[in-house]
Amino acid sequence: MTGRYGVDGLSKFMMGAVFTGLIISLFWNNWVLNLIVWVLLIWTYFRMFSRNIQKRYQENVKFYNLKNKILGKTGRASSTDKAHKVFLCPDCKQKIRVPKGKGKIAITCPKCRKEFIKRT
Ligand SMILES: [Zn+2]
Repeated sequence: MTGRYGVDGLSKFMMGAVFTGLIISLFWNNWVLNLIVWVLLIWTYFRMFSRNIQKRYQENVKFYNLKNKILGKTGRASSTDKAHKVFLCPDCKQKIRVPKGKGKIAITCPKCRKEFIKRT
């Protein structure tokens, strides 16, 4: 593989897609699916044996940017809690979520009813 590009993240992803496509085609013989699988397979091999390393590298960077964009969107959904602050109850260690920016407030633990003062 000297002078060849080799396997990168995008190749691995495409190999996974080819493999998934082949498994699906075992149950669902569709010519469009077969065509996609073959095109992906040929493209993957083309990239692996390509000598245009710079271009292949840029494709891989684009792939990772796209991946991060997609994953970043789903990741943001779980961390939308910028408006909240999480405290641990000093007694039972229960996690308590309170709105941010309210100053000093008394928080009552929903589990053990312990009251404690925290700054949000
Ligand atoms: Zn508690």
